[in-house]
This record gives sequence, structure tokens and C-alpha cells, in this order.
Amino acid sequence: MSKRVIIIGGNAAGLSAASQIKRQDASWDVTVVEKSDEISYASCGIPYFIQGEVTSSDQLFALTTNDLKEKRGIDLKLNHEVRKVLPRENSLVLSSQDKEYKESYDYLVVASGVSPNLHNIDITSRRENSNIFTIKSIKDGINIKNSIEKYDISRVGIIGGGYIALEMVEVFSLLGYNTTLIHRRNQFSKAFEPEVSEHMKDVLKKNNVTLELETKIASVIEKNDNITVRKSDETSLNFDILIVAIGVTPSTKFLKNSGIEYGIKGSIRVNEYLQTNISNIYAAGDVAEAKNIVTKQPTFSPLALKANKEGSITGTNIVKNNVETFPGVLNSSIMKLFDTGVARTGITESEAKSKGYHVKKIRIESNTKPKYYPDSSKVTLFINFDEHNGKLLGGQIIGPLNEVKRIDVLSGMIQSEKTIQDLYHLDLAYAPPFSPVYDPIVLAGRVGKKYVRN
Ligand SMILES: Cc1cc2nc3c(=O)[nH]c(=O)nc-3n(C[C@H](O)[C@H](O)[C@H](O)COP(=O)(O)OP(=O)(O)OC[C@H]3O[C@@H](n4cnc5c(N)ncnc54)[C@H](O)[C@@H]3O)c2cc1C
Repeated sequence: MSKRVIIIGGNAAGLSAASQIKRQDASWDVTVVEKSDEISYASCGIPYFIQGEVTSSDQLFALTTNDLKEKRGIDLKLNHEVRKVLPRENSLVLSSQDKEYKESYDYLVVASGVSPNLHNIDITSRRENSNIFTIKSIKDGINIKNSIEKYDISRVGIIGGGYIALEMVEVFSLLGYNTTLIHRRNQFSKAFEPEVSEHMKDVLKKNNVTLELETKIASVIEKNDNITVRKSDETSLNFDILIVAIGVTPSTKFLKNSGIEYGIKGSIRVNEYLQTNISNIYAAGDVAEAKNIVTKQPTFSPLALKANKEGSITGTNIVKNNVETFPGVLNSSIMKLFDTGVARTGITESEAKSKGYHVKKIRIESNTKPKYYPDSSKVTLFINFDEHNGKLLGGQIIGPLNEVKRIDVLSGMIQSEKTIQDLYHLDLAYAPPFSPVYDPIVLAGRVGKKYVRN
């Protein structure tokens, strides 16, 4: 019998769920509720739109409202915000143009994503047409680009130590602005090994980025066309544009008092079918908690592949009654920093220690091609494994852009619960234009296996 599904959120997870439900059974009534007027947008492309590599913001939209409505038969409510979920009566409260009303559902999917943090950065002085930005939507990207074009900009400040802050540093620096990265710790995000952070600092310095590390911010004041960041040591920095990229928080305010259980960092707790503690309510994407495949413990992983896959699995499970499980994540990610690539997967050495593993971290510096072949350079790998049995726990690669996607081999091996010894036994492809005969991954296995005790 066909049912009615309401999906909160019109991006990666929500639209994957909606499309999958329709693919499974076109007779189901599927409505996507989206509070903004943007759907199906590639947030990941925003930095490259600001940089000009992507020439038009239109290129960042994958599906149009027409694609969804006419081709896929999905009903869309744009500029509609979900205010409340009432599981007891299988309904929710929506608001649009200052009017509130209720809609009923048989199944609900929460795919409301995340919102940028401001934490205790007080930006109340933000003026109209402010030049202080967070980055989430395509509109944010357009506003930043407009500001660059409209104002006489030379000094750009970026607050944060994660991949979005670092990508934005690269973008503004390549555009020729005096770019300063402000971060509260000496190392960048804890997701990176300290040695990788150090290497990234060198890359940034080489590209004339000013680093203000171990910097606590007391206040941010925007006055006329100047933004002053006052530090807690009472000195200050002045900028024309300030980007705040200090992490994200799951968008779940509207679930208050709904009885839906929360998980790590305020995300929504789900089981392996992506079902919440209320059986006809599912959650998918950034807003949903995930299991870390290595530690088997809850993790918060706001990344695009997880969001797309979870949406699709949710759609299948709703129509077919829980037939597909989501195995979890390794928080694998990859980033471009000027001519350097940085990639990571699994857990860091310090995380492994905190979880009680007898972790051994090895560092491998390898040629990327045989020495005799042109354009060979160096790539550095850090691999964490359990020294008792060699079980792989995590790894990071930093080096030339096209060399770090090797991280995927490591991700596959970790997900298959393989060991450092297994890396040595991998039968990888070899020819001089691509790698040395011992690919850095195999080399890591050769070096690492000596440290395994049993
Ligand atoms: C600048 C930037 C760069 C990124 N780069 C990468 C990258 O390189 N690699 C990577 O893996 N990931 C990257 N990401 C993360 C990636 O974009 C997200 O993982 C992905 O968009 C998550 O999709 P989602 O559908 O779960 O959530 P979202 O994309 O956040 O979509 C949720 C939607 O729900 C809507 N919504 C929220 N609350 C309500 C409500 N109450 N009522 C109605 N609608 C609501 C929101 O408006 C939003 O449109 C990047 C993100 C940003 C911001």
C-alpha cells in the first residue's frame, strides 16, 4: 500500500532518500521540505566557485526543481521550515511566510544537515551587508564573491583549523589577498596527525599565508568597512573580510521535546538501518550519528559520501522494511592545499591511544616514481596499527596532489579489518610513470610488519 513520506532537508541525504523511495515504488507520496530556496547544491564546490575555478554558481546545482517534480514525481516545499515534530500524532509543524500549519506522515526522514558554529565568537556588531561570513549555502558563496568584487579588499582573515578553513585560506591566497589563518590551537584539526599539521603549516608559510596560532579571540567588531579581531592578549588584527569556519553543529533545534534520541555532538542516534528510536522516523546524512568502523563507537562525520549513501539506504529501508544496513565510516577525507594533497582515514595515533590500543605509528617517506623517471617527488605516509597483531587503525598521506588518493587503498584495507602485514602482500599495479615498484603503500607494509609482536 502506498504511504506518505515527508523528508526534512533538500540536499544530498534528503534528495537521495526521496529519489530512492520513488525508484523502489513510484506510487508512494514523497514530499521534501526545505527551509531555503536552494536544493541539490554542492557545498563542496563553493570554495572553487569563490576562487573562479567554477565559473558560475549554476554549475553547483545537480538537480533542478523540475527534475524532481516532473521527472521523479517528488513534491517539493521550498522556503518551508519544519518547526516541530509531533511523533505521537505522526505530524509536523511547518512554517512558511509567517504562517504555521501541520502536515501528516506515515514515515519521516530527518536530513536537516548541519549549521556552521559561531561558538562564543561574538559577532553581534555585524552590520548590514556584513563582510563576516560563514560558509554553508551557495548564497554564502555568492555573497562572499560579491563582497570581493564590490569592496576594496586586501586583508582576509579566516578563523578555524579544519578542512573548510584551510581550503578557504588557499582560495584567498591564490586570489592574491593578504591571508591570515587564525586558530586557537598550535595544531590544526585533531583529525590530522601533528606531523601532518606541521607539514601543512610549512605549505601555508611557503605560500605567504600568515599564521596566528594558539590565538584566543576575545571579540570581533565590525565598524564601517573594518573588522577588528581582538585577541585575549589584548592585541588585535584588522581585516576587510572575515570567514568563520570553526566547525558545525547538527541542525536539530526543531526536534526539541519530540522524544527523538540524540547522539554524539547533538546528532541524531540511529541504528544500523538508520532508524531513530521512533520506528517510523529515520535520519540520514550529516545530522545522523554514525559508527566508527575501527572503534565501533559513535562518531560525528559530516561528509558528502556518507550523506548520499545514507539517504539512499534510508529510502530502501522505508519502502522494503529494513533490508539494508549502513556499516559506518572511517572519516576518510582528502584536501587540496596549494600544490599539496592531504588525505586521512581511520583513527589518529592519539585517538587510538585514548581508546586503549597498543598503537604503533610509522612514518614512511617514499619516492612517487622510480628515481630514474622524470618528475619523481616525495610523498609521506603515517600508518597506525596495533602492534600486538598488526591490525590497521588509520593513516594519513601528505604530498603532491595526485599522489595522496592512495589513501583509498588504505581505507579499503582498514574496512576489511586487514593488517600492516597485509599491506605488504597487496598485489598493486606497477609501471614507472605511476609508482616505484614498491608502491608507498606496499613499502609501508614492508617497514611496518617488522614491528608486529605476534
Ligand atoms: C564549504 C564546504 C565544503 C565541503 N567540502 C566537502 C568535501 O570536499 N568533501 C566532503 O565529503 N564533504 C564536504 N562538505 C560537506 C558536505 O557538503 C556535506 O556532508 C553534505 O552536504 C551533507 O548533506 P546533507 O543532505 O546531510 O546536509 P545539508 O547539505 O546540510 O542539507 C540539509 C538541508 O536541510 C535544510 N534544513 C535544515 N533544517 C531544516 C528545517 N527545520 N526545515 C526544512 N529544511 C531544513 C537545510 O537548509 C539544508 O538545505 C563540504 C561542506 C561545505 C559547507
